[in-house]
Amino acid sequence: MHRIVLASGNQGKLRELNRALADLELEVVPQSDYGVEDAIEDGLSFVENALIKARHASRLTGLPALADDSGLEVDCLDGAPGIYSARYAGEGAGDAANNAKLVAALAGVPDEQRSARFQCLLVLVRHPEDPVPLICQGSWEGRILDAPRGVNGFGYDPLFYIPELGCCSAELTAEQKNRLSHRGQAVAKLVRKLSALSA
Ligand code: IMP
Repeated sequence: MHRIVLASGNQGKLRELNRALADLELEVVPQSDYGVEDAIEDGLSFVENALIKARHASRLTGLPALADDSGLEVDCLDGAPGIYSARYAGEGAGDAANNAKLVAALAGVPDEQRSARFQCLLVLVRHPEDPVPLICQGSWEGRILDAPRGVNGFGYDPLFYIPELGCCSAELTAEQKNRLSHRGQAVAKLVRKLSALSA
């Protein structure tokens, strides 16, 4: 079993990655197990921020490191909240405040102009100076509602409507969401790339 450190303390992400990578004899452990604190995410794109986090975790642990960066991109807001999704309504803002700000920002915008997508960038570095990081991207198309629906998930899930399914991502089970979501797609690509490397 090879160990990879995850540049996040999120238990949900940890479980999902460990399930996905178990067959490849890879064990993912959180950076907090090594006393690593969060890196300062001062990149201007998802991929830069994921790289910053992965390099930081790898430098401080001496292990290969995996990081993800994700967020919501709303077309009529020129891509906002984007990399600032977690703190859209201000530093330390919670999901409810972020969602309320998004509903207000889109007040009066007709349905056909409410297109949006979740983006996820997953980056694996073998060591802090890895010149060829493994980079996997997933995106998930939807539309922003004017009022929340559903109680599952987190973040903007109650406002993210998937027209093909006729429901919001907060109305999906965790398994359904993992199969379809931006993060699920990025994880699946990572598994395929790592399988190809070890074949
Ligand atoms: P992080 O990359 O886990 O830090 O996520 C950044 C932010 O993007 C989160 O705090 C959420 O606001 C938003 N976000 C990312 N992925 C999702 C998702 O699957 N559902 C809802 N919101 C998400």
